[in-house]
This record gives sequence, structure tokens and C-alpha cells, in this order.
Amino acid sequence: MSTGKINVQTENIFPIIKKFLYSDNEIFLRELVSNAVDATQKLKALSRLGEAGGDLGDLKIEVEVDKAAKTITIKDKGIGMTKDEVEKYITQIAFSGAEEFVNKYKDKVDKNVVIGHFGLGFYSAFMVAKKVEIYSLSYKPGSKAVRWECDGSPEYQIEEIGNRTQRGTNIILHIADDCEEYLEKNKIEGLLTKYCKFLPVEIKFGTRKDWKKPELKEGEKAEDLKDVEIEVDNIINNPTPAWTRKPSELKDEDYRNFYRELYPMQFEEPLFWIHLNVDYPFNLTGILYFPKLSNKLEMPKDRIQLYSNQVFVTDNVENIVPDFLTLLRGVIDSPDIPLNVSRSYLQADGNVKKISGHITKKVADKLEELFKKERKDFEGKWDDIKIFVQYGMISDEKFYEKAEKFALLKNTTGQYFTFEEFENKVKDLQTDKDKKLVYLYATNVQEQHVYIDAATNRGYEVLLMETMLDPHYINHLEGKLKNVSFVRVDSDTIDKLIKKDETNVSKLNEDQQKTLQPIIEEVVNKEQFSVVFENLSEKDAPMLITRPEFMRRMKDMNQLGGGGAMGFYGNMPDMYNLVVNSNHPLISRMLEEKDKAKQNAIAKQAADLALLSQGLLKGEQLTSFIKRSVELI
Ligand code: ADP
Repeated sequence: MSTGKINVQTENIFPIIKKFLYSDNEIFLRELVSNAVDATQKLKALSRLGEAGGDLGDLKIEVEVDKAAKTITIKDKGIGMTKDEVEKYITQIAFSGAEEFVNKYKDKVDKNVVIGHFGLGFYSAFMVAKKVEIYSLSYKPGSKAVRWECDGSPEYQIEEIGNRTQRGTNIILHIADDCEEYLEKNKIEGLLTKYCKFLPVEIKFGTRKDWKKPELKEGEKAEDLKDVEIEVDNIINNPTPAWTRKPSELKDEDYRNFYRELYPMQFEEPLFWIHLNVDYPFNLTGILYFPKLSNKLEMPKDRIQLYSNQVFVTDNVENIVPDFLTLLRGVIDSPDIPLNVSRSYLQADGNVKKISGHITKKVADKLEELFKKERKDFEGKWDDIKIFVQYGMISDEKFYEKAEKFALLKNTTGQYFTFEEFENKVKDLQTDKDKKLVYLYATNVQEQHVYIDAATNRGYEVLLMETMLDPHYINHLEGKLKNVSFVRVDSDTIDKLIKKDETNVSKLNEDQQKTLQPIIEEVVNKEQFSVVFENLSEKDAPMLITRPEFMRRMKDMNQLGGGGAMGFYGNMPDMYNLVVNSNHPLISRMLEEKDKAKQNAIAKQAADLALLSQGLLKGEQLTSFIKRSVELI
């Protein structure tokens, strides 16, 4: 046996690694299993080249937890290492990397920095182990097996051993006392499922429960003893997940099955999906699913998962892919995504930026294709994906440019139009006297029914804009669509919303209006309602409640969160107009009525009807309205 001293100044590297990396120590398992996968894949590649001869045999990787012995063992049957290779790859490279790491970070405790960035994957074992052993036999003919052991101090022991016959490497972690949670079956199984679920080599997981210290014969090591029967014996992973296969080989059912594999707790089927497959200018594969989205913008629980060569990196893709894409589900896999780096590093990474731009484009292309090929189907799905598309259009200029061709507007009768179609449809009737196009919209068909009715009676189209995001979307579209303004259908009387040249002449002169003003003001809350006279048509209602578009929009936006001016308007009390139709016969009658009590009753009844149609008549007011109405009958 020989001993060596690793060339680092730091006396004991173990506590330093722990200090820096403790928050993320679970990734040790991913690192070690990834190394085992690499070793196996290398062997397969060599065998294809004819450089590793013979039958490779069973290549499964095994992860074993032995609670009694307090060890976790990762076994592979890959290329293995000779004594020289262990010294070179494990001690020199890893430890010099560790030194660099320590020097670079000794003043900054950045818990997000993960060591693999420094080629220290193997070394992460020391985050949970007080001692690590390696047993390895290289695939090279005539190699001698090697045993290496280190307790995290710069000293290690290495020796050639005679009796290992199995090609490949066993890594034995002797778990530290404060990390014993990692000896729980569920813990390790959970980590394997999280990080290794789609690794390309089969991974078997087992635990040894009733472990008895094996009797060692002379010259034998524990390592040489036959495997004890293991308790649980599961294959953890699917080595050929759908995204790694050719789209032409996959049926719809395969995509749906893979969705369930990714999100076992998700019972809703995806609407459609995109299979990503790029090899230039970077490598990228993946499948993105469009889920049915609720109209609320909430952080999704089932998120897009980021992989690098089938190794799970993160499911926190926020700031890595554009925000609106985080509403999608699925998998993105790129060897160009650095495996072990902090998220701030990922965000700054040029490849990651390119990837994100590329995915945005692909998603837009797919939507356009669906729209062009299957318009009816696309319309059927629109309500479920519109929040996603709108979010994308608001937040991503490039996406907007593509989406303006397929984004749909829906009217209150459920018809869908593209921007262009809608403009053509309404431009004759809904252009006002200043040549501006006015797009009317409603947010609730039931509540705003009277107003929608008045608009459609004039041949106008009313759009439905009922989601939380719509106020923002409307603002955005006004900036984009030339010469268009949106107004909610109940924000003024219809003839004022779309002003034409011909105006009705008032039946009441100014003096008569002044006489009526205080009588009407008396029956409503003056703080909340301003009484205004308008020359509407005789056929319109005698009184109407409207709420100025500007005021309401500020309120809506405020609800979505927004500071500054929006915050200010949001805090203002709700203000409405009580519009009195000076051309309605009932208003003339009210003017002529000499009996004060009767006059007041007409005013009250008409105002209450206006409130009622806007859903503003409630409580005591509603009760007395009903009583009064019954008396009138
Ligand atoms: P990285 O994997 O980033 O190169 P590691 O510290 O994880 O860094 O590993 C260093 C090197 O040790 C690997 O590149 C590989 O050559 C060797 N190695 C580690 N684990 C194994 C293994 N299970 N089988 C064969 N070689 C291994």
C-alpha cells in the first residue's frame, strides 16, 4: 500500500466543502450516478469501436443503501480505472479543482455555487460522507484492481488489490453522522427519481436491511464478499424517454404516456405538444406540452424540467426560459446547458439565451401551424391557451410579431376573429367621427347585458375580455394596433362610445335640465354618482349607469398589482355617471309632474332600474325597490 499527499495548502478540505455546499448536498448522488453512467457509456462506445472486446454483460448501475453499515454504494460495470488513473483523475484533478474552488470562494459564501462547475463531481461525495472508498477494475486487459480510500483530508491511501474480478467501479460512501437521513430508503429513492429518472443506463436500487457483519477470510476484503440479498429491487429510470426518440416513431399515445410519466399527479391531458429537435447551432431536444391553463396567473406546480444529457438539472426555469414559457410543461434537454452551475450563471450563459430564443420561435411556429391547418380545432383550444399567448405577446416582442397572425379575438356570441378579420369586420360601422376605430368589449356578458344589447342593436361587435390579464392585454394592443382604442361597453352611453356626426337634438332645454338635476341627485348618493344629461334615442333607457373607461381601467390594473399612478387611482372611491336620457318620454313626464312625491318616485324608480341593470342595487335599497315596485303594480 502507498500513501500520497494531495497538493493543497488547506489542511482539511472536508469542512470547507461542507460549509460551502451544505445547502445543496443532495446532488452528491446525481454526481456519482452520472459518473457511473459516463463510465458505462464510454465502455459501450469503446466496444462499438472494437476497442473493448467480448461480451459486455449486464451493464445496470446499482445503488445500494445499507443502513446498518451506514453506507451507500454506487456500482457500475463501466470502463473502470487503473491505479494510475485513480491517482490522476480522482486525486490530482479533483483536488486541484477543489483548491481552485476554495481559493476562489473563500471570501464569498455563495450557497448556489455547485461544485461540478469545477469538475468536482466526484468530490461532492464528501458533502455527506466521512470516508469514501473506491474499488475499481479497468476494462483494459491485464489490469489490476485498485482500492482507494480517503477521509476528506489531503491524505489518501491507494493500493492494488488482487481479487476483484468484476470490471467497473464501486464507490462506497461511509455516511457522516449528521447526514444519516441519506440512509433512509425513501430519501435515496426520492433523489434517484428526481435526478436520475431518465438517465440512459438502467439504475437498480436496493437496500440491505438485516445486515450482518460478514466473516472475512484471510486476505479478503468486505468488497470481495458475495452480494447479500437486497430488500427492494427497483429499476428507477426509463433509459429511453420519449424526447430522446424520433418523432416519427412516436404516436399521440406515447406523448400522452410520457406526460403522465413526467407528472404522475397530473390528471388532465395536455392539449397539444411540440417535439423539439435541433442540432445546429446548438444541440437541443425536448417535448413541450400545452396544458389547459386556468385564467389565473399562478406559478405552476408542474414545471418544465431542464436536463443535460438526460441528467436532471433543475425544474426552476424561471429567468432561464422567458416567463410566459414557464406556463408550459415538459422537458428541455441540451448538453449545452451546463450541468452544475448556479442559476445566476445559467442566466448569463450565452447558450442558454440562444436556447430560450429558439424555443420561443418554435412555440410560435407550432401555434401558427395549428391555426393554419386546423382552424376549428385551434379555436376550440383558444380559451385554454389564450392566457399563455397573451402573456407571450405582452412580454416578448418577437413572439408578438408571430402571434399577431394567429391570436384570436372572441366576441360575446362566441365567434373568433384574427386581428385582421376583426378590423375588416368592424371598420365601416365602428369608426368614429375622428376616424378612430373603436373596439367595444365586455367583461361579463350577464352583468353588462343591457349595454351589449344596445351596442349589438346598432350593429356593433362586442369583444369578450374577461380574464385577469385582459386589462394589460388591451393596453398592450392599443400600443400596437394602429388607430384603435378599446372601450368597455358600459363605460358610457353607446352613442358617446362611438361618436358619429349626427347627434340627437335634446327635447329638454338647459333650464329644464337644471330643474331636474337636483331632483335626481336627491335619489342617489351624490359622492358616488354624477348626474349628467345626454340626448340619447327615445328607445334607450331613461337612465343609465356608466363608469368612465379610464377610471375603471386604472382600478383593474391596480388589482393586478402596479404602483405609482395606478396605485393612486386604485385607492379612489368608485365613481359612476348616472346618465339621464333627456329624450326619453319618462323624463319629460317627470319634469311635468306637479306632485312632488310622485315626481320623486319617478326619479327614484328610474334611477334604481339603472342601478339594478348594472348589478349595483343591493341590500336595503333593493328591498325597498321591490316593495315600491309591488305597490306600483
Ligand atoms: P467530471 O465527472 O466532471 O470529470 P469528477 O470529479 O466527477 O469530474 O470525475 C473525475 C474523473 O474521474 C472523471 O472524468 C472520470 O475520468 C473518473 N471517474 C469518476 N468516476 C468514475 C467511474 N465511476 N468510473 C470510471 N471513471 C470515473
